[in-house]
Amino acid sequence: MSKSKNPSDIARETLTSLASKRLAPTPENYAQMYREIGGEPVQAAPADSGATTSKGQLVPAWSELIRDLLHQLDTPHKGITITRKKDGVETVLNRFSRDPEVLFGKLQGLLRSWSAAPTAPGPDDLVPSVSPGAAPSASATQSSAIPAASPAQAEHQELINQLRELLAQTLENTLATQPELASEIQALAAQVRASDNKDSLNNLAKQLRQFWLKLELRGGDKAKIQEGLVRLLRLLVENVSEMVEDDKWLHGQIAALQEIITKPLDKRAIADAERNLRDTVIKQGMLKQSLTDAKATLKSMMTTFIDRLGDLTESTGEYHNKIEGYTQKIGKADNLTELSHILKDVMHDTRIIQASALRSHEELLVSKKQADEAEARIRELEQELEQVSELVREDQLTGALNRRGLDETVERELKRADRSKVAFSVALLDIDNFKHLNDSLGHQAGDRALQHLTRVIKETLRPADSVGRYGGEEFLIVLPDTDLKSAIEAMQRLQRDLTKKFFLHNNERILVTFSAGVALRGEGEDAEDLVGRADKAMYKAKLAGKNRVEAAP
Ligand code: GH3
Ligand code: MG
Ligand code: MG
Repeated sequence: MSKSKNPSDIARETLTSLASKRLAPTPENYAQMYREIGGEPVQAAPADSGATTSKGQLVPAWSELIRDLLHQLDTPHKGITITRKKDGVETVLNRFSRDPEVLFGKLQGLLRSWSAAPTAPGPDDLVPSVSPGAAPSASATQSSAIPAASPAQAEHQELINQLRELLAQTLENTLATQPELASEIQALAAQVRASDNKDSLNNLAKQLRQFWLKLELRGGDKAKIQEGLVRLLRLLVENVSEMVEDDKWLHGQIAALQEIITKPLDKRAIADAERNLRDTVIKQGMLKQSLTDAKATLKSMMTTFIDRLGDLTESTGEYHNKIEGYTQKIGKADNLTELSHILKDVMHDTRIIQASALRSHEELLVSKKQADEAEARIRELEQELEQVSELVREDQLTGALNRRGLDETVERELKRADRSKVAFSVALLDIDNFKHLNDSLGHQAGDRALQHLTRVIKETLRPADSVGRYGGEEFLIVLPDTDLKSAIEAMQRLQRDLTKKFFLHNNERILVTFSAGVALRGEGEDAEDLVGRADKAMYKAKLAGKNRVEAAP
């Protein structure tokens, strides 16, 4: 025998030789045979009292084990192919062949794991495969009798029944936390109890997967949602002093929060709102600083202006008093309207004393001009600030409309369609396998893919169409003056464009696909029903294999 033989070959041959020579496979015989076949010394099994006491049991057990092994290799077991069995034996031999006692236990465990599966011709996907690593410990010393086919099957069936009942009960337990899904949960539980063949189990597995997804999206993250809400509230409270200065600025924030609270809570909507709010607060903070600076400049210029006026009117006690009063008022004034009023009064008085102030007239005009400029700058800043608050209507990541912007757009277009009696369609699209993209390329790449898709959508659609982010990786496309056929074509064009305009990640071209549902608005149909139909059609497109467009009936 060649010395280069691997331990598993030697062990296999050792077992076969012991069987064929009808030698009792005691540890000593095994070690002796192993040495002969392998041509090298093996570590002797520990010659302690354990080896001696186990000897009596091992002698019959080994031969029985080998017989079992040969027999069970030939017996077809559900879900365990012959190759898998051989792989199992191979792994056990490789790992434990140097210690006969351990090897014995592992082989026994392997046999037990096979015989636990029902005997049947051919593999069956529904039964999990048994891996050799799962073999029980070496402490087992009983031989593994092969159970007759029928008791094993009965036991297996009983196990499946128990599992089915457990699954049904687990489903029913989620009822307490998801009362809105009561009917769906009860229907699923009933189906679990009734499923007794492979097809119905496969079908059920598919439905359960969809249901978990739904649960995960709805309430699986309740704690996270709560946490997000608290964070949002804290952010708002911390910044409220910054924002309450003018109702207009606060308006946008409050509206966005109201929108979140009135709709079903979801983790991502809260995260979006938080990001928007944080962005707006930062921008507003920056603008506010400029605004405060501009106001301070205006105040100081007006004070200079008044001082000059004071110099001029020193001669007249009456004006001097007035000017004193103005200076105090300016000091207290805090908003633009008040400052404008004061400015107007001062100008009025200036005109009265103009006659005696001719010499300084030009100086006054220069100051006035500066004050006007400062005022204009303030208005500009105030407008910018308003725009920043408006941004709350736009999704910050993609620049598409957000849910609020979408709601307004759809409502507006519905009214327009009512007035002009033209067709109006919407399409709901959902990126295919986006979770996989996130998992394999990272969340940031996922974010960029969303931006890429939005860009391509905007490039592909007509200017009159709008796109909004409906949820995480779902977009709603609003298609005014568009019938069903044209809407389907628009989505198919978008799908084609995406195959040309790849999303690039580290210079690698990634194809982003989506499934879409298209719905033509029925007479008098409201936005919710219309989008609901598009959503159902999108779901159909997913079930039909993804990367396709389905029309809603
Ligand atoms: P399907 O084809 O059935 O739609 O599968 P899917 O993987 O696209 O759908 P699933 O709903 O399982 O996963 C959507 C994923 O989208 C899960 C979520 O992490 C991810 N996602 C949602 N919003 C964002 C986002 O703003 N950025 C990133 N990177 N991922 C997001
Ligand atoms: Mg989705
Ligand atoms: Mg998706």
